Amino acid sequence: MALLAGESPARALAAEIVSCLRARGHVAYFAGGCVRDELLGLEPSDYDVATDATPDRVRELFPRSSEVGKCFGVVIVQGRGEVVEVATFRSDGAYSDSRRPDTVTFSTPQEDARRRDFTVNALFLDPFGDTASNPADLPRAPVSGCVIDLVGGVADLRAGVLRAVGDAAQRLAEDHLRALRAVRLASKLGFEIERQTAMAITRDAAALRGVSRERIGEELQRMMTHESRTVCAARLAALGLLVPVLGHERAAPARWDHLASLPPKAPYPASLAAWGLDLGLADGEAAWPAEWRRSLCLSNQDRDGLVMILRAVGQVRQAWDGLSVAGRKRLSAGQWFEWARVLVGVRDPARAARVGGDRDLLARTPSGLAPVPLLGGDDLVAAGWKPGPRFKEVLDRVYDAQLEEKVRTRAEALELAAGLGVKG
Ligand code: ATP
Ligand code: MG
Repeated sequence: MALLAGESPARALAAEIVSCLRARGHVAYFAGGCVRDELLGLEPSDYDVATDATPDRVRELFPRSSEVGKCFGVVIVQGRGEVVEVATFRSDGAYSDSRRPDTVTFSTPQEDARRRDFTVNALFLDPFGDTASNPADLPRAPVSGCVIDLVGGVADLRAGVLRAVGDAAQRLAEDHLRALRAVRLASKLGFEIERQTAMAITRDAAALRGVSRERIGEELQRMMTHESRTVCAARLAALGLLVPVLGHERAAPARWDHLASLPPKAPYPASLAAWGLDLGLADGEAAWPAEWRRSLCLSNQDRDGLVMILRAVGQVRQAWDGLSVAGRKRLSAGQWFEWARVLVGVRDPARAARVGGDRDLLARTPSGLAPVPLLGGDDLVAAGWKPGPRFKEVLDRVYDAQLEEKVRTRAEALELAAGLGVKG
């Protein structure tokens, strides 16, 4: 099948899958977030297809497919360099671990819409249906296909409302992660969370602790790496979700100005640092990143980034003026320094500007901010040194001298090393 004008390969693959299932007598639609996003004129991040074909049948029809969890009835189909999840219409059983349903029963589109979290996420689209039969006042974008709305999702989409499907309290009790999905999706889409849904989230906020830290961490990472991160932070606080998310008590601040200062694509550690500073947590050598590592299931890399930013914030605020040229160069050559400087600038723009100016001047010195070291461990060995505890100290001092333009050649560096003490 050829691509329609402007159609993404993922949409084309999803349409191909629907077409193939139809040709074999099955019912199949686009489902969930991709329909919501198309109606809002946004590019869906992924396409899902829902069908009455069983997973085994889907596998049979699409040789390039794999099962991601047969018990959940989801098959991944590949093509056009993309993947599409094909799920059998289903209704979920009880959620005894508040993580995933104990049982899944294959069922009808109606039941499938009812087991989805929010009305705007419960829409189907028949990509080959009659576009003209859509409600005349569909939200924004003209979509190609016919919308199937079984739970009032179109009206909520039009009104910009995120509403639980069915009884909000019951739907949250099934899976408390939905509280965080509500915050993330409403913030990303610029929607309001409907009142009953918001009240249920707040009433049951403590129950979020029963959800696995991996799932909580994943949602938080998605919130904090999206440009709606400030709205997310304000909503988490307003709904009483800060304590269950972070694992410690924290009063919500009046402003989220560190978060608001970040550019849309700021990396996760920078967002975490901004969030912590907005919450009034300490900079420098603080203990809270270790706590956040546990509660948000941070990777070592993200935790290290956060720690380095906070350390640099402390140094830019308090130590910069007293640092030597070498100390300033070492600090400002660090991977996270610029983020730290931006964050300091939120409350102290004059300092951030001055430190930035100092850094630019240092970058223009002959050796620059981070030159390749004139001397390494191998050079010391070649010069007759025995590897030992003094190595690092000597190399550090030689590098400092290089940063300060006191040694400019390898010979000068070796001479300095020789003068720094007994070999080995
Ligand atoms: P995103 O833009 O973040 O991908 P999405 O709504 O597409 O948002 P997915 O995680 O891709 O989110 O899920 C696809 C669909 O599956 C959702 O639109 C929703 O219908 C359903 N879904 C996902 N997670 C849940 C959940 N925890 N409870 C109920 N339904 C869910
Ligand atoms: Mg999605």
